[in-house]
Formats: sequence, C-alpha cells, structure tokens
Amino acid sequence: MKKSLIVILVLLAVATFSTGVMAQRYVVGTNASFPPFEYVEDGEIVGFDIDLVKEIAKLQGFEVEVRDISFDSLIPGLASGSLDMVAAGMTITADREKVIDFSDPYYSANQSVLVHEESDANLTVLFGNHDVGVQTGTTGDTWVRDNLLEDEILTGELRNYDSYVFVIRDLANGNIDAAVLDKPVAETYSQNNPVNVVAEIITGEEYGIAVGEGNEELLAEINAGLEKVKNNGTMEKLIQKYFE
Ligand code: GLN
Repeated sequence: MKKSLIVILVLLAVATFSTGVMAQRYVVGTNASFPPFEYVEDGEIVGFDIDLVKEIAKLQGFEVEVRDISFDSLIPGLASGSLDMVAAGMTITADREKVIDFSDPYYSANQSVLVHEESDANLTVLFGNHDVGVQTGTTGDTWVRDNLLEDEILTGELRNYDSYVFVIRDLANGNIDAAVLDKPVAETYSQNNPVNVVAEIITGEEYGIAVGEGNEELLAEINAGLEKVKNNGTMEKLIQKYFE
C-alpha cells in the first residue's frame, strides 16, 4: 500500500513536469544592433527575430531568455554551450554550416552600400583609397575581404566594429566613407540617421536560426514552430509590423 502510494506520487510528479509546469528554458543569443531584426528600445531587446523566436517558443512549449552579445561571439557561444540558439539575422553559409546547424530559412536579403547623406558617392566608393566599415564576422565583412581587399580593389582601410551602432555613428560623423551591411538593416538605419543606401550587392542570402552542431532535437522544434508561423499568418503579420 505504501509502495503504491509512492509510485503514484512519483508518476504525478513526472506528469506535472512533462505537462510544462517547468518548461524547458533556452538561452538565445543575438546582437541587438541589427534593426528591425533586433535592437534595443527602452532598455529592452526587441525586433522581428525576437518576436519570431518567442512565437516559436510559445507554439512549441518552451521558454526563451535573450542575450545581447557581439556578433562574432555568437557561433563560439553555441559551440561552448553558453547559448542554445542564435536569432541574429544570421545568413546560412557553407562555412558556418561546418560548425553549427541552421533552421529552414525565414528571410532573404542582399548586401548594400551605405554612405553619408551629403555624399555623392555610389558603388565606386568601394574602389580605391576609401575607408569602409563593417561589423566583425558578418557576411558583409567577408564579402569586402574576399572581393575587394584581396584583389586590392579597395586600397583604403577596412574598419571592423563590434556593433553596427558604431559603424553608423562613424559614417554619420564622416570618420569612414562607406559601410557594407545587409540591405534591410541599412534601410532601417537610413530612416533615422544622416545616411543613404546607394547600391545593392546581390548576394542572395537567407537567414536561419542557428543551434549547436548536432542539436537535432532543438532544431526539429524550431523548424516545426517556424512552419506553423509561416502557415498561420504570423510571419505575414511580423513582416507588416517591422517592414511596412
Ligand atoms: N546577415 C549577416 C550575417 O549573417 C549580418 C547579421 C548581423 O550582423 N546580425 O553575417
């Protein structure tokens, strides 16, 4: 009799646990200088990716805690286990696929060239003796290195920053001649800063949510949630909220 009572209590405890009273909590890494995907507003990290990941969490029954760190620390964070996932407008690339895993794509973007609004520069600002700013570890950073620096098409400095906030500040102050970054983000910055998008670089990138290599269980949860978000109209609503 006593034994069966213990069994019942244990079963009850297990049932309570698995019905989500203590939902799994995942740490999500981002870099909140990438509006409208992630940025800080009234001291809070908000944006398209943050809403997206919270929606997926709600649908799949887990909880998330968002952490703002430098972009080039995100992949090491997944590798070390200090982060469970990354939602940072991160482009799915073959190089990154070697060390982390990506969800299905959720957004498409190209690179772009941003200059001061009083400058009459165009794409050719990337040629010759000009200083160009990028955020370290991004596809914009890699693109400038591979296509312009290596062949000495750009002979000025490539300046690396930890945050786009500082890239934009230096561009607005005239400390650099141009910045290369994802077009939707460049356009968002141009709405509130004295900077303009003057060229698009067709790179055909797609953003994915990333997890540590081999974390198939979490990846399956994310993909299942993403599918629901795409099919139930939420994705459309998020696009309207942040881009229209
Ligand atoms: N999409 C770009 C990349 O993956 C930039 C992302 C970002 O800076 N948050 O490198």
